[in-house]
Amino acid sequence: MLPSPHDILHSVFGYTQFRGQQQAIVEQLIDGGDALVLMPTGGGKSLCYQIPALVRQGTGIVVSPLIALMQDQVDALREAGVAAAYLNSSLGAEEQREVERRLLAGELNLLYVAPERLLTPRFLSLLERTEVALFAIDEAHCVSQWGHDFRPEYRELMVLHQRFAQVPRIALTATADERTRDEIVERLALQQARQFVSSFDRPNIRYQVGLRHNARRQLLDFLERRRGETGIVYALSRRKVDETAAWLTEAGIEALPYHAGLDSATRNAHQRRFLREDGLVMVATVAFGMGIDKPDVRFVAHLDLPRSMEGYYQETGRAGRDSLPADAWMIYGLSDVVTMSQMIAQSESADERKRIERLKLESLLAYAEATQCRRELLLAAFGETFHGPCGRCDNCIEPPKTWDATVPAQKALSAVYRSGQRFGSGHVIDILRGDDSTRMTDLGHDRLSTFGIGADMDEKQWRSVFRQLLAMGLLEADAEGYGTLRLTKTSRDVLVGNREVRLREDARPVRASRKRRDS
Ligand code: ADP
Ligand code: ZN
Repeated sequence: MLPSPHDILHSVFGYTQFRGQQQAIVEQLIDGGDALVLMPTGGGKSLCYQIPALVRQGTGIVVSPLIALMQDQVDALREAGVAAAYLNSSLGAEEQREVERRLLAGELNLLYVAPERLLTPRFLSLLERTEVALFAIDEAHCVSQWGHDFRPEYRELMVLHQRFAQVPRIALTATADERTRDEIVERLALQQARQFVSSFDRPNIRYQVGLRHNARRQLLDFLERRRGETGIVYALSRRKVDETAAWLTEAGIEALPYHAGLDSATRNAHQRRFLREDGLVMVATVAFGMGIDKPDVRFVAHLDLPRSMEGYYQETGRAGRDSLPADAWMIYGLSDVVTMSQMIAQSESADERKRIERLKLESLLAYAEATQCRRELLLAAFGETFHGPCGRCDNCIEPPKTWDATVPAQKALSAVYRSGQRFGSGHVIDILRGDDSTRMTDLGHDRLSTFGIGADMDEKQWRSVFRQLLAMGLLEADAEGYGTLRLTKTSRDVLVGNREVRLREDARPVRASRKRRDS
């Protein structure tokens, strides 16, 4: 008689209960069906294929792109008494032959293999002479160009369906937005697969987003109340990481820098200290975090906008793995959008990639500027419907006040339009405020009908209006990254008076204020 999944969960892995949808997933595979599993990091994806591989006859073949993680998994499985092995470029010829021999002899329960290895004609023919219990495709989002981890070889994994039609397949990922999901289904021919979508909510994380006006002061205020706690501070550039770590240390907060510009010995030393010690603050670029599993990270702070909602979710998700309350805190400014647009424009990527990057940046900006529950928006980015208020985000705790800004929005959009959609927000604000510089007269912009029609609001308020219009998709920045503003398809509705625009209170004119420039 076959061992029951529950017996294996208990005797091999030492757990008493399945978690979430694990049991249903395991049963689906044991019954010979396909599965697509969307589960956040730490949710327990591995057991979903490990247990059915042990219950079913034959060897479970696990495709994984991460060599380092392969090794960890195999070590842990062997420790638990499972016959597991891996095949990747880190093995010598002798070792590889031995693994292949064991595979053919039916001695392995689980074999981890890198996709490029799996796809070799030699390995595929080896598999044809093997009894395969199932195929598990880990990090399945690698088939998608929408994500950051695109791996062309992953698209060829379709061959598994074609050549081994009888073998159940399970694809797993922690990236769950709808486009990625659709691409996985299509590229891996998983139309018949049952989909298991877990909630991506991290109820113990509190989300806060604010405008950056004095980054040091704001970060210090935030950290002051968290003395002695472990956390990560993310910044966009290596220089900013170094500088921030230095002044935090000066301010008496133990902080270490981490970015790809440091030599690997320093990076490793800093990472080790972060993992072992209590109360360290790691100041880092996105280079830090992959595979970091420290349960008691109490906060993740962003000094700049991350690249995308997935990035934000992954980065903030490193906080509170122990399920105790944790903070995701972010400050940002309009300049981030310009910097990021420039980075995208100047990158070597193909145009299609750049277009995707811009769309991602826009959705993150919309999140940052949102007035509704942040959790609602964050989860919506992963295709999940959540009804706020959650009570654990800044917008729920203190709902932002909004005001009817239709008229200023119309002024802003028409100033962009009348000046030919060739200028950035700085110049357009000067037009609105009636700045009488020689540049203005040289360009003839002092003769525009929109010149000076916004003198009732100061520069800071206008900047807020522009930022929010960008976030709402009523304006877009140029693809080249110069910060030039253009109207969008939806701008017209506002211009002709068919759409009301409500903005956050911070842009509201409280008084007819003097013209003033501040950073
Ligand atoms: P993922 O691959 O989704 O990031 P893992 O498979 O690595 O997650 O599992 C995360 C952690 O949860 C591991 O330490 C694992 O042993 C543990 N875990 C998984 N399933 C269970 C369970 N049913 N009961 C208790 N712990 C579990
Ligand atoms: Zn909320």
